[in-house]
Amino acid sequence: MSDKNIFQRIIDREIPAKILYEDDQCLAFPDINPQAPTHVLIIPKKAIAAISDLAPGDEMLVGHMFQVIRALANKLGLTGGYRVVANCGPDAGQAVPHLHFHLLGGRAMNWPPG
Ligand code: 5GP
Repeated sequence: MSDKNIFQRIIDREIPAKILYEDDQCLAFPDINPQAPTHVLIIPKKAIAAISDLAPGDEMLVGHMFQVIRALANKLGLTGGYRVVANCGPDAGQAVPHLHFHLLGGRAMNWPPG
């Protein structure tokens, strides 16, 4: 049994995902349990467990990921708006210990989140 987390296994192509976008720094694929008509996960290829583990020097990577999110939202036609979520740690309900941004759209959303 691999001790890699599920997202590292997707990066390494050990388990399948429908890759919507990929470059040398990150990739994006649909969430297996979508919470909105569009629910895409954007993850870095670098092994970073969570926002709390970002290091000096990761600024360019995170900025790049947000440019990817913006381009994906346009490509996926989220003209009505969208939400970007990053759960960090147990209180936020982070289930996979590999940094990821959820891109959610295609429906109106409530605030505050649960
Ligand atoms: P978190 O709760 O850590 O912020 O989000 C983890 C997300 O990963 C969840 O929304 C969950 O549905 C998604 N997920 C878990 N396992 C897989 C998988 O094997 N494939 C895909 N595409 N998404 C997954």
